[in-house]
Amino acid sequence: MSENGGEFSIIDRFFSSGEATGPWFCKGVGDDCAIIDIGASRIAVTIDMLAMGTHFLPDAAPEDVGFKALAVNLSDLAAAGAVPRAFFLSIGLPKKDDGWVSRFSRGLMELSRRSGCALLGGDTVRTPRIPKADENSPAVFSITAMGDLPKGMGLTRGGARPGDDIWVSGTLGDAYAALKYRWGHWAIAPKAFEQLRVRMDRPEPRNALGRLLLPIATAAIDVSDGFAQDLTHVLERSRVKARVDWDSVPRSEALRSLPEEQQKEASLSGGDDYELVFTAPPSRRREIFEAGIASDTLVTRVGTILPLESSDSALTIYDATGGAVALKSEGFDHFA
Ligand code: ADP
Ligand code: MG
Repeated sequence: MSENGGEFSIIDRFFSSGEATGPWFCKGVGDDCAIIDIGASRIAVTIDMLAMGTHFLPDAAPEDVGFKALAVNLSDLAAAGAVPRAFFLSIGLPKKDDGWVSRFSRGLMELSRRSGCALLGGDTVRTPRIPKADENSPAVFSITAMGDLPKGMGLTRGGARPGDDIWVSGTLGDAYAALKYRWGHWAIAPKAFEQLRVRMDRPEPRNALGRLLLPIATAAIDVSDGFAQDLTHVLERSRVKARVDWDSVPRSEALRSLPEEQQKEASLSGGDDYELVFTAPPSRRREIFEAGIASDTLVTRVGTILPLESSDSALTIYDATGGAVALKSEGFDHFA
């Protein structure tokens, strides 16, 4: 993490002081959720802010924006193994637009109902109009979501140990490929794009799988900024290294219809997957496959956690020839 780097250097330098934080299980920032004990109960809390134009194309369907605004928060709860219970919604709107907000609310409440996560409060404010922004687009949304954890449990980025397997849920890279198509950068056949588009617009948070992994996984994170970058967060917090085999990285049929270099860029560096990356000892493989079946979620073993002493860089991804795969980019960073 460089001193003059982007988003993560801001968090590191100004918001990760490690000062005493009270009688909480979590002692500061750095995980997908804060894990907090209140009396006999334990809860996981997360907050994610989304901006039109940054996280969504200006012409995104409002229903999809509402759905995804909640989905990305539920995904952080999934990474902690928490069951979603409640959320709070703050909206900044440049102007009153009942049509837009009604459609936003429809998508949001669809996922709220389906996940059993109730809207319990929030705030609504006016934001200044952004020059040249889509007139009809409200500007920012922030959701704080909370979930239940069993006493004494909760997954963090910090528990991966040498010898652990590295696993991925679902498939990686679809949302990024859909974005590249929408930007006009990549050519994709209509049928393949239709499958990729759904992954970008309506990500499925992996809460059922996350809950089942609670007693099994040693560490977990959800992939929001790209597999390589998010796995690296686990490696840093756990003080370990990793090797990953490119051939085992799970990719959808639609993504596999693209040239291999684009598959690599999308699935290793592209963001917005909202899949879980988690680690567990090899003795738990059978239970992980059973958790995958019980939650109807594909689970794939992609690599191994190594001790920090080994001389290679923190994360190395090998192709079938044994060569290291060069990353197209380090993943998404708001200020890189
Ligand atoms: P995620 O992608 O799961 O939302 P990030 O990787 O964006 O998490 O953030 C890394 C960690 O830094 C998280 O623990 C997050 O809560 C924390 N964080 C991010 N921004 C701030 C901030 N402004 N103040 C305090 N903590 C922050
Ligand atoms: Mg996360």
